[in-house]
Parts: sequence; structure tokens; C-alpha cells
Amino acid sequence: MSSRMDRRDFFQGSAAAAALAAGGLAGCATASTGTSGRTPFQLAGTVIPVVGSDEVFPVRRIYCIGRNYRAHAIEMGSNPDREPPFFFQKPTDAIQFVAPGTVADHPYPSLTKNYHYEAELVAVLGKGGRNIPVASALDLVWGYSLGLDMTRRDLQRAMGDEKKPWEIGKSFDRSAPIGAVHKVAQTGHFTKGSIWLKVNGQTKQNANLSQMIWSVAEQISKLSEANELFPGDIIYSGTPENVGPVVRGDVIEMHIDGLPNLSVKIV
Ligand code: MN
Repeated sequence: MSSRMDRRDFFQGSAAAAALAAGGLAGCATASTGTSGRTPFQLAGTVIPVVGSDEVFPVRRIYCIGRNYRAHAIEMGSNPDREPPFFFQKPTDAIQFVAPGTVADHPYPSLTKNYHYEAELVAVLGKGGRNIPVASALDLVWGYSLGLDMTRRDLQRAMGDEKKPWEIGKSFDRSAPIGAVHKVAQTGHFTKGSIWLKVNGQTKQNANLSQMIWSVAEQISKLSEANELFPGDIIYSGTPENVGPVVRGDVIEMHIDGLPNLSVKIV
């Protein structure tokens, strides 16, 4: 008898919770779950410091474009003339903030024997939308930073060979080192300028942002066809050619004209 009561209470309780959740969702036009209530533990949101401000930039999603420079597309074995843009995501908590002027310790991850750097411009969005035209896409950009799309290349390749998801090669803990956010009002948009990366002082990657196959504006437009974009979404805009491995003890320094350099030491 009492167990039947418990069951009924349970079902009534969950029906009420579901109705509450549905009401919350109906009243909320964003991607928020619309639920509220006491949580059993706290989850920290991911934020990135903003240069020249006491604000921090809250990160919603991390999008990354693949093979966005001709020579890199070729070195990865694809045809840059035929391939439409494609994107993957990293988990938001993969962010590792690296303060300007510091060398952050970056842990060599588990499972890989071929850990690669990819130097990239990062656009951060302050507005969202669906089906954004290229001509107005840069209106969504709130600022820029620079970052590393760190990659377990051996695992990425192995999964690709088996037509499985890249996830384990791209979307792991601390796979997204990033510098501070610079407001676009202070930097302007980045359509050209040097992008380079050194390991232990030796130049490995050296290219120009103008060599992107798909511009930041085009990336935003394309992404917004697949997903509604929101403030807090950030986009790693692809890496030039000559990606390569690092081992423990190596120091990576990367540069984009107009931004302070980003440095990490692999530990
Ligand atoms: Mn990349």
C-alpha cells in the first residue's frame, strides 16, 4: 500500500515537474532549458577575460572550422577546391585561458602519441541569429582572440580512417587554449595580417589571415544555416599549413598581428 502511494506520488511529482519544464520552455525563445530549481552541486560557467574591461566574456559554444587554408587542406589529404566548409565543436569547458605575457602550463593529454598544435584566429559573438547573410555577418562579432586547436592527431586520423567521429581527437579536456578577448571596437575586424606559431623559438606555421578559404563572415553565415547562433558562441577559424607535434617540455608561442602573443608550455 505504501509503496503504491510512493509510486503515485512519484508519478504525480514528475508530471508536475514536466509541466513546469514545458511551461518554462514555451515561455523562453532561447536555447535555455527553461527549468529552474535547487541543484545538487554548482557548475561553473566558462568565461574569458576581456582586455581593458572588468567584464568577462561568457562562452556558450565552441565551433571550429576544418581545413580552412588551402595548403593545410592539402596536407590533410583533402581537395581545397571542392570541399564545402565543415565544422565541429569542442566542449565549452575545454577552454584554457592563457593570460597575455604569461606561459601557461598545458598538460600533454592522455591516449595520444602525436599531439599537434593548430594556431587560429578566434571570433567571439555578441549577437546571434539564423540564416545570417554574409554581408551582415560581421555585425554578430563582439571581439577577437587567438587560440590553439590542440589535436590528438593520431586518434583523429584513426577515427577518420574508420569513418567515426573526430571527437576523441579534437574535443577533450583543455584542448582549447585561448587568449584574452579584444573588443572589435578596439581592434577592427581581422581579414588579413600575419599568423605564425613557433615551437621553442623555431617557426613552424607562418601564413596570412587573408589566405583563409572561408572568411569569418562566411563561416558565421554558413554556421547559422546549421544552428541558430547565440551570444557567447565562439568560432576557431582554422589553421594554416605545417601543423605538427609537440612533446613535454616544448614551448609554443603563437602570434596574430594586432593581438598579444599566446604562449603555453607542454607539461
Ligand atoms: Mn583547427
